Amino acid sequence: MGQIVLVGAGVVALGTAMLLADDGHHVVVLERDPEGPPSDPVEAWDHWQRPGLNQFRMAHAFLGGFRAIVESELPRVSRALQGAGGLRLNFIRDVLPEQMSGGWRDGDERYEWLTGRRALVEAVFAATAETTPGVEIRRGVAVAGLINGPSAQTGVPQVTGVRTKDGESIPADLVVDMSGRRSALPGWLEDIGARHPGEELEDSGLLYYGRHFRSADGSVPPFFGSPQIHWGTISSLTLPADNGTWSVVVVTSSRDTALRSLRETDRWAAVVRGLPPVSHWLDGTPIDDGVQVMARLEDRYRGFVVDGNPVATGVVAVADSWACSNPTNGRGASIGMLHALTLRDQLREVGVDDPAAFAEAFHAATTETVEPWYRETLTSDRHRLGEIEAGLRGESYDSPDVAYQLEKSLDVAFPQDPECLRANFDIRFVLRTAEEVFARPGLRDKVLELGSGWRDERPSGPSREQLLALASAP
Ligand SMILES: Cc1cc2nc3c(=O)[nH]c(=O)nc-3n(C[C@H](O)[C@H](O)[C@H](O)COP(=O)(O)OP(=O)(O)OC[C@H]3O[C@@H](n4cnc5c(N)ncnc54)[C@H](O)[C@@H]3O)c2cc1C
Repeated sequence: MGQIVLVGAGVVALGTAMLLADDGHHVVVLERDPEGPPSDPVEAWDHWQRPGLNQFRMAHAFLGGFRAIVESELPRVSRALQGAGGLRLNFIRDVLPEQMSGGWRDGDERYEWLTGRRALVEAVFAATAETTPGVEIRRGVAVAGLINGPSAQTGVPQVTGVRTKDGESIPADLVVDMSGRRSALPGWLEDIGARHPGEELEDSGLLYYGRHFRSADGSVPPFFGSPQIHWGTISSLTLPADNGTWSVVVVTSSRDTALRSLRETDRWAAVVRGLPPVSHWLDGTPIDDGVQVMARLEDRYRGFVVDGNPVATGVVAVADSWACSNPTNGRGASIGMLHALTLRDQLREVGVDDPAAFAEAFHAATTETVEPWYRETLTSDRHRLGEIEAGLRGESYDSPDVAYQLEKSLDVAFPQDPECLRANFDIRFVLRTAEEVFARPGLRDKVLELGSGWRDERPSGPSREQLLALASAP
């Protein structure tokens, strides 16, 4: 294998670069943002500008699925992350009472998170990648298009490198696009005569209003509920991070214009204060300049094999550039790392000497291993949006979809039963798909029985009228 060019240097791309370099590939990572991280990752929050990455200062949880891959495949990164103050958290060990969890069991270590603010985690990945033999990171280099070479398959363009915005041509045996949820890859493919990838696009219709805080003594607030709680037309996220920092997010529908006032720190805080198990997460010093807002959170999938043929060979899309979903479930980086492993394994098994065979094998492996996570998240997003829209109309939402019935029932069943609790964690932390979990003997019936009262469950938070009053109080 010669050279792999990787477009984008987000946290998952850096992890991918290390996985491939550890297998002996030479990996050139091209990142359009010019600035690299400070030498001390703890300073990344204050001293690293990443204008190319909208979510750089938004809440992130790096869940069990992400932690497991990093720990087993890139143990030097997990050591560095912990050394930089990354938080290790296991709900069964650290948070839940024994009567709820049933006590520690073999295998519970899989529920551990190794998490931190996005800036710190990415700085650790960047520093470790910089010292990995075979990884070359070039910052301030924006990719503007693809180079087209002799076709390996009749009628299908073969990509042999990238063109940068400054006019440089960089050759590659394989181009891996990891330029994120706003990737321009379809346009670049069109420019070299390729067919458009099959694209499914839905605006998940959600808006993020988030802030980060720090405690004086390095502690993080205790949980009095789940990290994600749905309160009718809004959801809250409370995510512990590194070095005594954490984030609090209020998620609304983008159509909920009455709540646009949450951009203002006082109104945002008034709403969070009105959510009983969450309000104490405000008891810290804010470490940002105000409420950070992020919109245009689309669910998007791109299929690069159309009618049985790849749209191009010599190029693949990995992580968010392939598929991305509503980030509320905190799954993006875990799914991205799973996709990165899939790429590494297909390079091992198939290689790129036959580019058409590689394109087909990578697509098949992605469909089998990674796509189920995207599909399940999409289904969950659609129902959540249905709940919010119904709430805005003053109605309640229901659906005969079995996936929805099981998800809602599990929300009510898991605090009542240790097996249901672990089923919930396996799904939430990107360890086992819902399909795999509900194939466990007897579990489906148990969840439907214990959770049968989910329609009567109401979070003990403000009504819609109270919420609007909090968001508009002077
Ligand atoms: C608001 C929000 C919250 C999220 N919260 C979580 C969470 O809690 N947990 C979780 O696991 N995931 C979360 N995610 C998702 C997570 O951020 C992504 O899944 C993850 O970063 C993987 O993305 P990526 O590597 O594909 O691309 P990104 O991390 O988006 O990186 C793309 C990189 O490509 C660069 N780039 C773009 N175009 C070019 C170009 N032409 N040339 C060169 N470089 C280019 C960009 O500058 C950027 O650095 C969240 C996402 C959002 C939007």
